[in-house]
Amino acid sequence: MAKQPPQNDPFRKYNLTFAERLYLPAIAKGMSVTLSHFFRKPVTIQYPEQRAEVSHRFRGRHTLKLDEFGRERCVGCQMCELACPADAITIQAAEVPPERRHLHLTERYAATYEIDLLRCIFCGMCEEACPEAAIFLTPFYEFADDSREKLIYTKKMLTEKTGGPIFYKD
Ligand code: SF4
Ligand code: SF4
Repeated sequence: MAKQPPQNDPFRKYNLTFAERLYLPAIAKGMSVTLSHFFRKPVTIQYPEQRAEVSHRFRGRHTLKLDEFGRERCVGCQMCELACPADAITIQAAEVPPERRHLHLTERYAATYEIDLLRCIFCGMCEEACPEAAIFLTPFYEFADDSREKLIYTKKMLTEKTGGPIFYKD
């Protein structure tokens, strides 16, 4: 390699050798990196035939939990809506109709509960804020769809059937 001018000279000119003018050292360096990867285990997977295992800390699509008696754990307190930094949650709370009392923990419930997954940044603040351990983020990440409307998840889409795992907070 030809002798180079000092780094602190803003007007320095590089004296390139003939080989450097033909980019030969740079090409050889690049090819050596490429070759070294030929002998490594590939990190790509053949999705969708193969699925990546996500960390247990991964935060994907939300779920609203029922308790072991099939009652909605969510009491419509709107703490998650307040905590959400992306304004992705919209809740309309209401009084539980008498004929549905057996399906709820309290007299108040979320009559509508929507999460806009296009706004959501999957921070987990809703999960942290919930006093009833009703909402959780799951490892499920395959919810791409072809319209914005389909990515606004309703309470029906979010609620897990009874018998799903229930995580209790301290
Ligand atoms: S994960 Fe974060 S951004 Fe998404 S709904 Fe919950 S609080 Fe909002
Ligand atoms: S999910 Fe939790 S924080 Fe959100 S409204 Fe229901 S009970 Fe309140």
